[in-house]
Amino acid sequence: MAAAGEPHSSLYDTIVVGAGIQGSFTAYHLAKRGRDTLLLEQFPLPHSRGSSHGQSRIIRHAYAQEHYTQMMAESYGLWEQLEAEAGAPLYRQTGLLVLAANTNPEFQRFCQTLAQHHIPSELFTAESLRGRFPGIRPYCGEAGVSDRTAGVLYADRALRAVQDGFRRCGGALRDSEQVTDIQPGVVVTVTTSGGVYQAKSLVITAGPWANKLLAPLGLLLPLQTLRINVCYWKEKVPGAYGVSAHFPCFLAICDPHHIYGLPSNEYPGLVKICYHSGSPADPEERDRPPEASGLPDIQVLQDFVSKYLPGLVPEPAVVEHCMYTNTPDEDFVLDRHPKFSNIVIGAGFSGHGFKLAPVVGKLLCQLSVGEEPSYTMEPFGIRRFPALPPAAL
Ligand SMILES: Cc1cc2nc3c(=O)[nH]c(=O)nc-3n(C[C@H](O)[C@H](O)[C@H](O)COP(=O)(O)OP(=O)(O)OC[C@H]3O[C@@H](n4cnc5c(N)ncnc54)[C@H](O)[C@@H]3O)c2cc1C
Repeated sequence: MAAAGEPHSSLYDTIVVGAGIQGSFTAYHLAKRGRDTLLLEQFPLPHSRGSSHGQSRIIRHAYAQEHYTQMMAESYGLWEQLEAEAGAPLYRQTGLLVLAANTNPEFQRFCQTLAQHHIPSELFTAESLRGRFPGIRPYCGEAGVSDRTAGVLYADRALRAVQDGFRRCGGALRDSEQVTDIQPGVVVTVTTSGGVYQAKSLVITAGPWANKLLAPLGLLLPLQTLRINVCYWKEKVPGAYGVSAHFPCFLAICDPHHIYGLPSNEYPGLVKICYHSGSPADPEERDRPPEASGLPDIQVLQDFVSKYLPGLVPEPAVVEHCMYTNTPDEDFVLDRHPKFSNIVIGAGFSGHGFKLAPVVGKLLCQLSVGEEPSYTMEPFGIRRFPALPPAAL
């Protein structure tokens, strides 16, 4: 390591800041291409301060927006490849049920996308839902559509696997090193709490800390950081909502925010059910209790569980915490810095980025090596935000 204030002797091809799932996959793709890559992480690994920790995430083709369903086809393949390299399961197929009033326009879009992309799926009425999933008590007029390819990713294990894969390809991962300064240029100079490093290109994947690193580079993205309560609910009969009982993941389209759940698996007897929103919070103060008038998410979940899932105790048994970093349209930011083209940004994953990380990493890698990205980048561009300060553009 270089002494403080003194540059590291070698010039890296790329430095990636932030070893969450997005930065780790970006570094993995870069190292696989033989790029000399340094991945920097502020905390000792593993840690639970960002957005990528925890036992589980939903993986699915089902999306209301077609561009994500398209990307998921490749993402599944890349997850399988990582699983083979890791020699350990990273995914369990459980299926997913999308639930809504049958006239709901978003629900209709989910059905269309599944059909257009020939994803194995099935439509349910309230009655057929009751027959197939006795643990669910649907209301009159409700409908469901399944995505049989969906399931659960073992998140902590997956993060470790991609970081191990990166190291096996010769990548350097330095944790406990906070990036404190970035000097743009043809060669980018990055100062951390442990040293000074230089690279031909830089990728910033700092999760809820993104704007802290971007502001000194003249860019403030319209990102909102939210504290999420990750709630686990006890089964009255152990296993009734479990993977062995073939209970699926679900996504209930509710107003104003969706509710999603995963079958009991990682914590025996506990089903994970969360509200797809949270209270605004700085990641440095994530666990500070929110204002009394904060989001009534747990109350909303309690009402949902007692009405809808009668086999669960309608009070959370365990509550963990995590962060979302939301954009106004909940599409990601995958783009070059408007002024410094060798600085690439991946941010704003809006609570749905884990499943797509293998493709996100590939796209950020392509942007940083100056290649044409494999997908249309229109939904992910920085210029879609009209309110950015002109100095940044
Ligand atoms: C409760 C919850 C449930 C979710 N469920 C799903 C799901 O079911 N399916 C799905 O696809 N997605 C889901 N997501 C979303 C997904 O987990 C996130 O989109 C993804 O983890 C974001 O990863 P990231 O790498 O951008 O951020 P992070 O994991 O936060 O990583 C950013 C990293 O950058 C580091 N960093 C920041 N600043 C610095 C600095 N100055 N120097 C060095 N390092 C720095 C941080 O310490 C951190 O490790 C969920 C998220 C949450 C919170």
